[in-house]
Amino acid sequence: MSKITFESKGSLFYSSMKEGVADYFAKNDIKPTGNVYLYIKLFTLIPAAVIIYGLLLFVKMDAIFAILLCALEGLIFSFIGFNVMHDACHGSFSSKKWVNNFLGYSLNALGGNAFIWKQKHNVVHHTYTNVDGIDDDIAKLPVIRQCESQQWNKMHRYQHVYMFLVYGLSSFLWVGMMDFAKYFTKKIHNTELQKMDFQDHFIFWLSKVLYVVFYVALPIYFVGFLPWLAGFFIMHLFMGLVLALVFQLAHVVENTEFIDGSIIAKSEDEWAVHQVKTTSNFATHNKVVSWFVGGLNFQVEHHLFPRVSHVHYPALSKIVEANCIKFNVPYNQFPTFTSALVSHVRFMKHLGEK
Ligand SMILES: [Zn+2]
Repeated sequence: MSKITFESKGSLFYSSMKEGVADYFAKNDIKPTGNVYLYIKLFTLIPAAVIIYGLLLFVKMDAIFAILLCALEGLIFSFIGFNVMHDACHGSFSSKKWVNNFLGYSLNALGGNAFIWKQKHNVVHHTYTNVDGIDDDIAKLPVIRQCESQQWNKMHRYQHVYMFLVYGLSSFLWVGMMDFAKYFTKKIHNTELQKMDFQDHFIFWLSKVLYVVFYVALPIYFVGFLPWLAGFFIMHLFMGLVLALVFQLAHVVENTEFIDGSIIAKSEDEWAVHQVKTTSNFATHNKVVSWFVGGLNFQVEHHLFPRVSHVHYPALSKIVEANCIKFNVPYNQFPTFTSALVSHVRFMKHLGEK
């Protein structure tokens, strides 16, 4: 499949917004990368994950406490993904490249692979957002149908119910299956994976081996097979559900657009307009949600300025929204997490009806 191109003539929308954002950073004399609020997240979430891991392995406790801690560990892993890994892999955590590279490996520590993810996410998803056939994040056929251009099957009638289980299993499938599929096929959906050098191959395999050691072998050794199996399953269930939902609520809801990449070769929109039309915010006034999901409820701002740390998105949203009104581009948002979730379920139910 050839890659879709975007209109590039007279792109005033993005240049106006970029000017506003550059002014904001200049006037306030701050860097677009992370600040003390981001470092607080780093030094809260990572130690919390390590402490819970230690408690689960070395402290004898009732099964119910252990299960609750595994669920909490899954949630904290997803928050590390949103707050630390995502900024680092975009190069927006710090102005120092080595800091971003180092913290990007938090993804490998969670079972994924930073090299593959940077291409899947930064290149494929961020450029071709909601373009069916290219965006790997909406490629879940035949299990789930996420836009009108995807082939329907009978099972999709119930997808608005069983999708929660699929989301819950998604991080496990990602760590144990999808990374390997991308590695061996050298493809991210329909896009060629960049060539890996020796170091990339070495880090890929080392991370996967260490994952088995720390998440499988050591827990089985210390707590036994069945307790580990239950805990590992619960941890992934919570991690996968939260990771998948935050993505779905930002792109697969009733107010976002999709493009069929197999029939449209050139979008009539400039790239920034395409990003805004295919993306939606939720619960932007909720400070608790914003803190935990790493500003990814400000997904519109993130897609327009992926190299700006998420700690600045609330301020940037005023500039972005004002420009959307000025240039008559829809600024998609839901007031709460629940309203976005209801819209997602309704949209998935609609896609499930033939
Ligand atoms: Zn991103």
